[in-house]
Amino acid sequence: MLMIPGPTPVPESVLSALSRHPIGHRSADFSQILAQVFTDLRWLHQTSHDLLVLCASGTGTMEAGIINCLSPGDRVVVCTNGKFGERWAEMCDAFGLKAERISAPWGEALNPELLRAHLEADSQTPANQKIKAVILTHSETSTGVINDLETLSRHIKAHGALSIVDAVTSLGATQVPVDAWGLDIVASASQKGYMMPPGLGFITMSPKAWDAYKTAKLPKFYLDLGKYRADAAQNTTPFTPAINLIFGLQAALTMMREEGLDQIFARHARLKAATRAAMRALDLPLYVEDDAIASPAITAVMPQGVGAEQLRAHLKQWFDIALAGGQDDLEGKIFRLGHLGFVSERDILTAIAALEASLSKLGHSVKPGAGITAAAQIFLHSLS
Ligand SMILES: *Cc1c(COP(=O)(O)O)cnc(C)c1O
Repeated sequence: MLMIPGPTPVPESVLSALSRHPIGHRSADFSQILAQVFTDLRWLHQTSHDLLVLCASGTGTMEAGIINCLSPGDRVVVCTNGKFGERWAEMCDAFGLKAERISAPWGEALNPELLRAHLEADSQTPANQKIKAVILTHSETSTGVINDLETLSRHIKAHGALSIVDAVTSLGATQVPVDAWGLDIVASASQKGYMMPPGLGFITMSPKAWDAYKTAKLPKFYLDLGKYRADAAQNTTPFTPAINLIFGLQAALTMMREEGLDQIFARHARLKAATRAAMRALDLPLYVEDDAIASPAITAVMPQGVGAEQLRAHLKQWFDIALAGGQDDLEGKIFRLGHLGFVSERDILTAIAALEASLSKLGHSVKPGAGITAAAQIFLHSLS
């Protein structure tokens, strides 16, 4: 049972769609499937912009966003408050971009005022040396913090830079209205909120992003989004797509449509609230105390008096439940419980019950049933 922030559990209907025999990707049958998938993806991303599907993980998809809109030596701001923000800064270094950082400590949210001030100061800069793009992570999976993307995006728009957004653990879990928030480039990946195995990347490109594409000089070939755009207009792809993953995606999007966007987001909000209530009831300190900046996709917990790794090992061994560990400085200090994608109330109750049992087995004094009761109360409350 996967309770990690990706890959996430995959529903039976998606698994069986994946297991079909492949068909030719230049066939009319496949184009018909792609057309449906593009329509449904636009619905999920709340956008009328171009939405392209790549054979790539989230990192490859972010790379596509960066290399299609920027040139060597361009100034960019990278917002960092966790592992993924750091990765985008490293990527900028690799491509010879001049990256300036706006940071917040791990476990805290980015302060939009810092970005606003930085961008306002830049407004005096001659046009050809101005900050070209701001790269930011919406839901920082390494810490379980969600950044205020709507406000951050407003400041970026006021300045005129492009926004390049990692929405990998927010898309499909919470509101990411691409058009309403004026987001230029938004990247995500199939193994997170899409109820799919890894392998597909999704990227939206605003008209402004396409303007930047025209003059962008970083080299690109396989990830040249212009090719994907031209082919998407004909419901096809420039290279052999992951045909079976597209079958699976079609099934996953059908399930999402049946559930409805608001219901999907409300479910994630419930799962987050119940998980957090349970941790509090079990005296397990939340790594992110403030509910307002806690990600709807993932909860990080910093247990005291019992090792995070010991707990993870126990849950795996006795209950076959996989939790994620901490990364970098947080290794061994936190565990992370993913609750995004194909996750239900029942899964949360199961994981919490197993956690309670493991805690008591490891000598942590817990009131039996305290976590379950707290979580169940959240669920009962939201049913009334
Ligand atoms: C999972 C994840 C990614 C993508 O990682 P890949 O392993 O390349 O798919 C990017 N950003 C965030 C915030 C993530 O959670």
